[in-house]
Amino acid sequence: MKPSFSRFLIYLNDSDLRSEEIESLHDLIFLNKSRNTITARDLTTASHTIFIERSFKILNDMADKGVIERDEILCPSCGQKLEFNDIIDSQCYECEAILELPEMVSFSIDGVLTEQEVKILSRNAFERNKAEAIADYWERNGQITYLLTDLVNSQKIQAQGDDEYSNFLKTLRMIWKYKILSQMDETFLILGEIGDAYKIAFTNVEDAFKAIKLFAIEIEENAELNDFPSIKKKINFFPKFTAVLDNLPRPTDSKGQIFSPKDVISVTLNGVYDFSTARLTDLFRLESASAIYYNNYELYDVSLWVFFNALEELKELHEKKIEDKNLAPISAKKKGAIVSKGKAALFFLKGMKLEIASNPQELLSDSP
Ligand SMILES: [Zn+2]
Repeated sequence: MKPSFSRFLIYLNDSDLRSEEIESLHDLIFLNKSRNTITARDLTTASHTIFIERSFKILNDMADKGVIERDEILCPSCGQKLEFNDIIDSQCYECEAILELPEMVSFSIDGVLTEQEVKILSRNAFERNKAEAIADYWERNGQITYLLTDLVNSQKIQAQGDDEYSNFLKTLRMIWKYKILSQMDETFLILGEIGDAYKIAFTNVEDAFKAIKLFAIEIEENAELNDFPSIKKKINFFPKFTAVLDNLPRPTDSKGQIFSPKDVISVTLNGVYDFSTARLTDLFRLESASAIYYNNYELYDVSLWVFFNALEELKELHEKKIEDKNLAPISAKKKGAIVSKGKAALFFLKGMKLEIASNPQELLSDSP
């Protein structure tokens, strides 16, 4: 059977799995190349921190939730077909032979990779394929969508310098990777991957908007993300996030010369993709210039600026009738001179709630 990704997500929500366990499970089940069945031993081998009994319990839980399928169990002594739930004390109920269940029970998974994906095999190649798809789309359609999110007050939190912060970053990464981005409809690519800031390119503006909405729900519902008591003790609001979303035109340098997207996207030795364009530099400047007063985070977990080009393409927002008063002119200055400017609407999110600020300009913390 094909393992079910949506059931995997439901299973993760109810489970107490650690980040490493989720990562190993995901790779074993969803990035599987050729294997049709796995055993608890395979999961233990994939992640040396999971003991075989734990692996066996996890796989059985997943089978019970319909993510994967438990294969038929045959007693090696008498050949009797056994029902897993009828086996007591690891004993065959026909011949009373002791059964090494964790070693002998297998689960059907039938990897989800397509023929073409099987050819590329490694995770780096998988990312490379996505980077190429993003570049092709950018070339053909003349734009892509860019989402940048950042933890509010992150410098102050980092300065506290305890292990809790690195655990927080790890949790954040798991949530983005496995709970949010796995639900996107079209291609996306995580860029940079450093610290608390997430930079993600999308071929679909609706996906980018959906991602931030899913993130707001995760912040509210995910106990793991909120379980950082010593950070919370030192920072009076945490975790709160800012985000900006815009469409980027085809890459140019500061003089306006147009490049092919394939020439600007680069990869580090760690296999992480990133790129820089003049318009993106503008967007980063505008992000710094669009900081809002902290008291706005008392009622919301995420603030999101959607810049004009992206705003126009979001179907859901057409019904909300965004008017001129919902748009703030944002400008970034360097030595007193305006170097970049744009118009954006400000949204506030908390759980399922999404609101548009009616007077965004007044909320800017360094508004003129
Ligand atoms: Zn038997």
